[in-house]
Amino acid sequence: MGLPSAKRLTRHPPHVSFEFFPPKTPPGWEKLKETAAHLTEFNPDFISVTFGAGGSGNVRTLETCLAVKEVMEVDVVPHLTCLGLTREELERHLESYREAGFTRVLALRGDVPLLGQQTAADVPIPEGGFRFAAELVSFVKKRGGFHVLVSCYPEGHPEATSLQGDVDNFVRKVEAGADAAVTQYFFNNAGYFHFVEEVRRRGVDIPIVVGLMPVWPYEQVARFSEKCGADLPAWIRKRMDGYRDDPDSQFELAVEIAVQQAEELFRNGAPGIHFYTLNHPSATVRICEHLFARQQVSHGIAWEDAAYGDVELSTATRKPSTPSTTTR
Ligand code: FAD
Repeated sequence: MGLPSAKRLTRHPPHVSFEFFPPKTPPGWEKLKETAAHLTEFNPDFISVTFGAGGSGNVRTLETCLAVKEVMEVDVVPHLTCLGLTREELERHLESYREAGFTRVLALRGDVPLLGQQTAADVPIPEGGFRFAAELVSFVKKRGGFHVLVSCYPEGHPEATSLQGDVDNFVRKVEAGADAAVTQYFFNNAGYFHFVEEVRRRGVDIPIVVGLMPVWPYEQVARFSEKCGADLPAWIRKRMDGYRDDPDSQFELAVEIAVQQAEELFRNGAPGIHFYTLNHPSATVRICEHLFARQQVSHGIAWEDAAYGDVELSTATRKPSTPSTTTR
């Protein structure tokens, strides 16, 4: 599926990027550096680093970004979440990102911190703080100097009362100034194609990069999918369950599923794929090896229309927006 009016662009090599989270232990830090070094070979557009829910452990986000920078020549994109943080805290984080030389930030509301049975609505908002990501986007853009990425949910955010309402929210984030988006992961590409077509009809023209989670380790991804509302199709669950005592076959299947999913996305114009690595890169590395090897085999044949975003993401986003002194 591709939009008929889209420009034809050759997409070699595929645009990929990777998400890490801050490690908690010294071996975790070593592993992260090794992982980052290994993923360099795929020339990622960027590496993003998560931010603890409610601001917990948020110093580690910056440390992790700096650690990645030590081993990789790559744009690093720290995440920033607003739920429960004061405006001053948010400002301090932005300033630390700016001082470290980062020019892109992924602006989010954030998960609900694991404090009892709270929902997002129960989390107190400090005076002048923000309840939704759109408000944070507006805050960051008004201060200037950052290219802002946001999240979006082709299958709907789990708290949204309707998919339409959630699309409205995404449009609000774009109107607030978002420059690019990364989706929550999904396994049904049709939902992404429909989502993109709908927001394009509503005038959204920013790149919508696909977040991709390999189904590995299977049990962990299955649990996580229930929590975040990602639809794990029955055929995947059945095939994975069939290999319950055979982790090697589960791994191979996870790689095969992700390669097929990524190829279909690229063929149909996805501007890039952002891998949720869970700091365990083995599946991501294998998937990228397949994607890059096939790209060499098919070199010279244009992949399909870039209907879902702008292939210039990596160069366009390296330019920070004009700094402004405006605050609100
Ligand atoms: P929002 O866009 O604010 O939306 C949250 C909910 O509120 C949605 O249901 C939306 O429909 C609704 N909503 C928004 N505005 C309004 C309004 N005006 N009125 C009524 N309803 C409204 N979490 C972390 O804690 N740290 C991370 O580093 C992190 N990284 C992520 C990276 C990606 C790519 C993605 C997809 C998610 C990430 N998350 C992270 C998870 C994310 O924080 C959660 O999914 C969170 O629940 C929503 O964040 P958001 O920015 O999408 O929120």
